[in-house]
Amino acid sequence: MTIQIFCDFDGTITETDNIVAIMKEFGPPQTEDIKNKVLSQDLSIRDGVSQMFQLLSTELKHDIIHFLQQKARIRAGFKEFIAFTQRYDLEFYVISGGMDFFVHPLLETSVSQEQIYCNATDFSGSHIRIDWVHACDKACENDCGLCKPSLLRRLGKKNALKIIIGDSITDLQAAKQADLVFARDFLLTKCNELEIPCIPFETFYDIQDYLLQRLGVQHETILERVE
Ligand SMILES: [Mg+2]
Ligand SMILES: [Zn+2]
Repeated sequence: MTIQIFCDFDGTITETDNIVAIMKEFGPPQTEDIKNKVLSQDLSIRDGVSQMFQLLSTELKHDIIHFLQQKARIRAGFKEFIAFTQRYDLEFYVISGGMDFFVHPLLETSVSQEQIYCNATDFSGSHIRIDWVHACDKACENDCGLCKPSLLRRLGKKNALKIIIGDSITDLQAAKQADLVFARDFLLTKCNELEIPCIPFETFYDIQDYLLQRLGVQHETILERVE
């Protein structure tokens, strides 16, 4: 059976949210007002994020990348998990509401570009402009920005077992469409509340262990293959 894994980036692969970190470090005071409007749902995520990035000069590009490369921490077990997906031919995709200019560099040593679906950015003007290249399809009316349920519909194969790994509200609609959900933080709370079956995780070792049992593969076999 084909297994397809769709994995969130911010707060899932990285331990914390990179957009929040960028705005804290580089954003002018107005970003705070915009953030509050998103939280109070007076602005969609898409509009709020667009407006926040439009406050940042395109000249900051390399400073932002450098800042995140220093600061962002990749969750324990991620590299090993990628090796595991390759060894067992599990399809692995990153679906991220983050931006290409920081998601790609942070994943460059572990995941190939074709596996990453995120927002594009335009640095040709004076300020950073987001291109929402994976917007909602006709079946979604949430104005998601990057639409995870739409991507799942597009990339998902008919008879595949679809797995979602995530941490926040933006993963919820995709989680509803998945066969198996690994959740932490807010997504975990929300899934429990809505009685969506899910498996809690803290590290990618937890997920690998669970899948090993599900795939019926013994640890010893894996160790032999690695050595
Ligand atoms: Mg997240
Ligand atoms: Zn959508």
